[in-house]
Amino acid sequence: MGNKAVTLRELEYEYARLREKAYAERDERARAAYAAVPRLKEIDDERRFAAFSLGERLYRANDPERERAAVAENIARLNEEENAILAMHRLEPDFLKPRYRCALCSDTGYVGGAEKTMCRCMQVRLAEGRFEKSHIHPGERFETFRDDIYTDEAQKKNSLRARRLCEDYAEAFPHNEPKSLLLMGNSGLGKSFLLNCIANRVYERGHGVYKLTAYTLIETVMQSIRSVNPKPDFLAPELLIIDDLGTEQMIKNITAETLFSIVNERQTAGRATLVATNLSREKLMDFYGERLYSRLIAPRHCAILKLEGKNLHIALR
Ligand SMILES: [Zn+2]
Repeated sequence: MGNKAVTLRELEYEYARLREKAYAERDERARAAYAAVPRLKEIDDERRFAAFSLGERLYRANDPERERAAVAENIARLNEEENAILAMHRLEPDFLKPRYRCALCSDTGYVGGAEKTMCRCMQVRLAEGRFEKSHIHPGERFETFRDDIYTDEAQKKNSLRARRLCEDYAEAFPHNEPKSLLLMGNSGLGKSFLLNCIANRVYERGHGVYKLTAYTLIETVMQSIRSVNPKPDFLAPELLIIDDLGTEQMIKNITAETLFSIVNERQTAGRATLVATNLSREKLMDFYGERLYSRLIAPRHCAILKLEGKNLHIALR
């Protein structure tokens, strides 16, 4: 979530560090397990030896296929015994394996056999770095949320409630129902602060988050239309946050259509989008038309949190 564009090389370096960390943590767990249950160490040694000696055995064997099958069977038996011991000691089945942040690519950043393609997780990191700035304020977090700025008791209570709802959303991510969230209300009521709190929490819980203003979004799309730059993959981030909807340039056949296609594609893919706007429902309808309006307002797609000074309207289900 750094403030500068990330290069592929930097990302590959970051992924190598991730893998090292996963291996080191695995080794630490294994040391503890082997000390407690020496048989686990023997199983690991036997399995290594079986795999290691396979080449030579195949070379000498009269029937290499039978030899291969025998070794595979031996390894399967060892795996089974290991699983049984782990279960008996109430340890997770993956206790002796590296725990990667991304199960798809084992933190290599790439998937596929001979023809490797970039894993979704690295695409997200790259997309995050493709913009100059991620626009997520690192200091604005639930932990730094202050309610003593409100002198009015009712407003203080409402802001605390809004905070709690947003924190619940961030904690439940990505299993929220409905997936998306629309934050409405005039400026000065802390919408952007809440967006940053959610962004930081969801990111720290290990999910790809991308935040930008509607203004920057449209600017970026216009730039890529004018030049050969590829359009950022707005589908890639697990959580896309669009702040300040309504402040962007209204370009005929571009603005409403672009926003609709992003929100719609993400909804179709089951991905969450968080939108904040100062606009009223009527203005949303006016500016963007029925299609985007219904995507943002429909309760099955989007929960609505409306901050209205002393009145907090909550349609979270
Ligand atoms: Zn991955």
